[in-house]
Formats: sequence, C-alpha cells, structure tokens
Amino acid sequence: MPPDTVRIARGTIHPDPRDSQRWQYRSDWTASSAIDEEEEEEKQEERKKKKKKKKEDHLFEYAIIGKGMFGSAAAKYLADHSDSILLIGSDEPQDLRLHKGVFGSYYDSGRITRILDTEYVWALAAKRSIDRYRQIENDGGESFFHPVGCLRVMPDAINRRQYIAANEAIGDRLQATYERLSDDDLNRRWRYLRFPKNSLAIFETKNAGWIDPRKLVKAQQQIAAAKTDKGSHPCVQIIGETVVGKNILADGSIELKTDKANRFNAKRILVTAGGFANFNGLIERRLNLMPRAETTLRAEISQECAVNLKEMPCLIWFFDDHPNLHYVYIVPPVQYPDGRWYLKVGGDREAEHLFTCLAELETWFHSDGGAEAASDFRGILESLIPDMEALSWVSKPCVITDTATDRPYIGAIDENVFVAVGGCGAAAKSSDEFGRLAALCVRGEQDLSYGADAFHVLYEGEEDSGTRRQFHF
Ligand SMILES: Cc1cc2nc3c(=O)[nH]c(=O)nc-3n(C[C@H](O)[C@H](O)[C@H](O)COP(=O)(O)OP(=O)(O)OC[C@H]3O[C@@H](n4cnc5c(N)ncnc54)[C@H](O)[C@@H]3O)c2cc1C
Repeated sequence: MPPDTVRIARGTIHPDPRDSQRWQYRSDWTASSAIDEEEEEEKQEERKKKKKKKKEDHLFEYAIIGKGMFGSAAAKYLADHSDSILLIGSDEPQDLRLHKGVFGSYYDSGRITRILDTEYVWALAAKRSIDRYRQIENDGGESFFHPVGCLRVMPDAINRRQYIAANEAIGDRLQATYERLSDDDLNRRWRYLRFPKNSLAIFETKNAGWIDPRKLVKAQQQIAAAKTDKGSHPCVQIIGETVVGKNILADGSIELKTDKANRFNAKRILVTAGGFANFNGLIERRLNLMPRAETTLRAEISQECAVNLKEMPCLIWFFDDHPNLHYVYIVPPVQYPDGRWYLKVGGDREAEHLFTCLAELETWFHSDGGAEAASDFRGILESLIPDMEALSWVSKPCVITDTATDRPYIGAIDENVFVAVGGCGAAAKSSDEFGRLAALCVRGEQDLSYGADAFHVLYEGEEDSGTRRQFHF
C-alpha cells in the first residue's frame, strides 16, 4: 500500500493533502488496487461459500432410513418443509430366496383398509389416511384403493356383541358407514360365501376395502420425488441401499454407512425400518419391538372366477372353536404383478413365532412360510367358498412388527435420532398418517389430537399394559 494512503476501513482511501495531483494519480492507482483486492477477497469468499455449500449438499438436513410404507410417506411430508432429504432403503428383492439382508412387510398387492376399530387412535389414523387416498392416487399416478367394503363375521356371543358395539361407537364418532348383519343377511347378500349358523356381522360399506401397498409406496415416493426447491432441484434424494451402520459425529450430525460402502451425512435421522429397526446399529438402545412370523396363503383362481367374486368384500372372520386360530382375514380377488388372480388369506396362526436376530428373519423370508398355517388357511377358504376351484396354492412368509403399546412408536430416541416403527400388522392402511406424524415429530412438532403420549416409545425391558389388546381389529 502506498505510504500516503491509510486504509482505515475496507474501501476507504485517505489521500495525502499536500499533493493534489499526485493524489489524483495515486488515488486512482490506490483505488483500483484496492478494488482488485476487494474483488479477490469477494472471489475467495464466493469460493469458500461454494465449498461450504458443496459440503452441505452431502450433509442432508434429514435422512429417512427405510423407504417402505412409513418412510415413503414421511419423506413426502418432510419435503414440504425441507429441500435436503435423503430417503434411503432397500428395494424389494426380485427373489426373496436369494436376498440377504433386510426385508419389508409391504411386499404384497393387498392390504385391508377400514376405519372401524375398537381403538379411537387406530380408527382416527385410518380415517385420516383413507380420506387422503384419492389425492395420493391422483398426485402419485398410481391407483391403489379398492373400496369393496370390509365385513367382520363372528359367532354370536355376548363378548362379540360388545365388540361390535365398541366398533360402532368409534365408527359413529368418525362418521364411518356400516351396517349390522344377521346370518340370514349374510347368506342372502353373498350367496357364494358359507358362514355358520348364528353368525353376527358388521359390514363397513364405504371408505373400506383393500389397498395395494406396493402401489401406495410407489405413489408416495413419486410425490416426494417430484417436490423441488425454488431452483427446481429435487428436495428428496431416493437411494436404494441398506444402512449397515452409523456414527454420531462431533458436531452432532450422523454418518450413515451402507451395504454399497457409501457414506451419507445428515443432521437428523428418522428410522422407519419396520421389523429390522433394532438391527444394523440403526439405534443405540434396542426398542421393545417384537417382529413375529405371519404366513399368508394365496389361492390362484381363473379370471372368470375373479369376475364372479367381484362383489366380494374384504373379510375378517373370528372363531371361537378353531383349534389353531382366533381369526383369519381374507382379501378378495386381486390381480398380482404376475398377471394372475389370487384370493389371499392370513391369520394369527404363527403368533408365538418371534424373531430375535437377523439370521432368523432371513431364514424365515427364504421359506414358504408355515406349512401348518397354510393347511389351516386352505381348509377355511375351501369351506367358505365351496364353489371356488383353485388353480394353485402359494404360501408366503411375512413379518408383523408388534410393539409393547400395540401402537406404532413415533418419537425422538436421541438428540437427532427419531423413530416411526411398529405397524402391529395393521398399519398399511394408516401409513400415510403415521408418516405425517413422524415428519411432524422430526421437525419438533406434535399433533395433539391423538393425545400427548399416544405413540410413546418403549425400550427393551419396558412394558406398558395400558394400551395392549388382543387383536388389532
Ligand atoms: C402378511 C401381512 C399382512 C398384513 N395385512 C395388513 C392389512 O390387511 N392391513 C393393514 O393395514 N396392515 C397390514 N399389515 C401391516 C403392514 O403391512 C405394516 O404395518 C406396514 O408395512 C409397516 O410399514 P413400515 O414402513 O413400518 O415397515 P415396512 O413396510 O416393512 O418398511 C420398512 C422398510 O425398511 C427397510 N429397511 C429395514 N432395515 C433397513 C436398513 N438397515 N437400511 C435400509 N432400509 C431398511 C425394509 O427393507 C423396508 O423396505 C400386514 C403385514 C403383513 C406382514
């Protein structure tokens, strides 16, 4: 810097008052030199900013682990508030038997949906989701909702009448549409179905039926993927990898390691890994989650038979005298991705079959499910629809993730770690709402219409009998 100028502040030049000509010249020289310097500093600043931004591009604001039913919905909702979301999860394997690692509980084409329930929290979550199905179909470009109705049939007994009354009371609060039916009504209405004498029934006629969970997940991801920031960059990056470990870094952010040896960093993570949440080091302290086996049996039927059964509703059928089952659920004919038509039946046959480690889960998913369960289900389906001729029978394994509260756990488990897990075998229908609640939670908000503590988290060893019930219906 020339001796006759003093920079007292950036961009301010003080001339030597003894020589105005020199000043003129020098001041020009000095000023231009100062401008160069300034420009250089600005450039440096700009470079620093870019570098920081580049680094921040890899530091997601939120990472959601598990892109199944809860995670995909949560990503959609979070994308309304952030342009920096990673949705990372395993894709559905082409062949379950060859797959190693984690699996999802939505690998199917039919899940029952209904509002009626004996618990207000479940009914409200279902209603809110069902009310949004058509919008999700529209925005996500997938048709997944088939409102064929949901029929519940049971032996006539005092406790069953109380059960129906409890469903009706909650249904009335939420404006569900239903009818009570006698066994005569049942036989008149669905001549091809055979129920025992003295059956009681409640039929939810509107806004109930079945959804295709794969298509719902796809729709949610398509909606999430289409959300962009002001510069038209996608808000959500969707990656098909399994998270196999995590580190909490000194600044509180979290580094995720994947099975493809990639690393992703996020300020906050939401674990939506279903029955696999306690594995792969996703969370520090194990949750009180009980992943258990569920077998489903599918009867393949001809297209003609599917047409004949097209008015068939979803069915939940309770028994008092079956040696192995308290209930079964039946999804009416659905065309699966292989182009064939199937009727599906499942029930609580494997309720005691719990898993404690990844290897046990993997072995189960590599199997055909339980042979005894499949045999029971087949007998029930054949007695229910004696005229049905099955072309083949297919049994499949699946996993239900029960919680100690009989509700999903949605909450914070660490400073920057959140969970939304535990569908209890009944959360496909309400997954949009559970995803919304999870998105609220990671943003530090809560929907109090369920009560302040409705989805509290319990860790291994902790129990809560207050919300436990026998069936999720
Ligand atoms: C046989 C069966 C029948 C059912 N019937 C009904 C029904 O009729 N109606 C109903 O409402 N509900 C039903 N359910 C329940 C419903 O399917 C589940 O509640 C729902 O799928 C739970 O969603 P989720 O997102 O918690 O878990 P999932 O849908 O299982 O998604 C979890 C995802 O996380 C991924 N993941 C796990 N670990 C990792 C990891 N480390 N890294 C990355 N990704 C990971 C998994 O691969 C999966 O994609 C049924 C479930 C089963 C098994």
